[in-house]
Amino acid sequence: MIEVIKSVDDLARQKYDLFVPTMGALHAGHQSLIKLAKEKSDQVLVSIFVNPLQFENKDDLAKYPKTLEADLKLAELAGAAAVFAPSYEDIYPGEITKIEAGAIGDLYEGKSRGDHFSGVLTVVKRLFDLTRPAAAIFGEKDFQQLFLIKQMVKQLNLPIEIIAAPIIREVDGLAMSSRNVRLDEAGRKSALIISKALNKDSISDMHEVLATEPGFTLDYLEVIDEETFLPATVNTKNKRAIIAGWVNGVRLLDNKRMGSSL
Ligand code: AMP
Repeated sequence: MIEVIKSVDDLARQKYDLFVPTMGALHAGHQSLIKLAKEKSDQVLVSIFVNPLQFENKDDLAKYPKTLEADLKLAELAGAAAVFAPSYEDIYPGEITKIEAGAIGDLYEGKSRGDHFSGVLTVVKRLFDLTRPAAAIFGEKDFQQLFLIKQMVKQLNLPIEIIAAPIIREVDGLAMSSRNVRLDEAGRKSALIISKALNKDSISDMHEVLATEPGFTLDYLEVIDEETFLPATVNTKNKRAIIAGWVNGVRLLDNKRMGSSL
């Protein structure tokens, strides 16, 4: 059976090479991160903590799926050595010193979700302090999050390698997400429009595709420069289209590397 670490004191006695932070409700996307970690070391630690600080929408927080027993099984099957499932007090003992996410943290996801990235960086820094891994793996699914975590690690000079893992999709193209279980059948179909749009080569074609699906409400569609996370220009080498929106009131996001045209 996989080891479940429930207290900070127990964690302090252990050393793990690879760390995969999650909010639980694990799926094949999370498992791919754990498998990638396991290829590099047997000492893989997964954390499961639904971080209230990064939820601007209290309803979204209340509805966030919680499936600990199934998560332990999925983490074990993917190769994790242990799961750290801390309490709120473990993560936030006393007053919280927040990490600021800076200018990029206010764009896109940050614009729609207030203090979201400050909440993300604050919990990730705290988890890094507690788990002290050599490397941590994050999914490209949350591309802006990945960018901001890399930026934080650089700015604070943390001795942790950040490894990016590709987006895992359902067979029909929908990016896997813990929130997908909240879509009804019609919503599940509407959500497919996001990955369909991302298969186009230009931003105008993407807008055209998205506009054909009345069940999808667009928040933003942008082509960004992967190095700066600012809108891509003619000089941008690596471009990525990023999309976020809502289906059935469920927030969905996705992204894809783009070719050279805008
Ligand atoms: P979450 O539990 O949603 O906070 O996600 C935990 C980690 O899993 C983050 O690094 C996510 O980017 C990553 N992740 C979530 N969904 C996917 C996916 N479909 N493919 C790859 N990574 C993912």
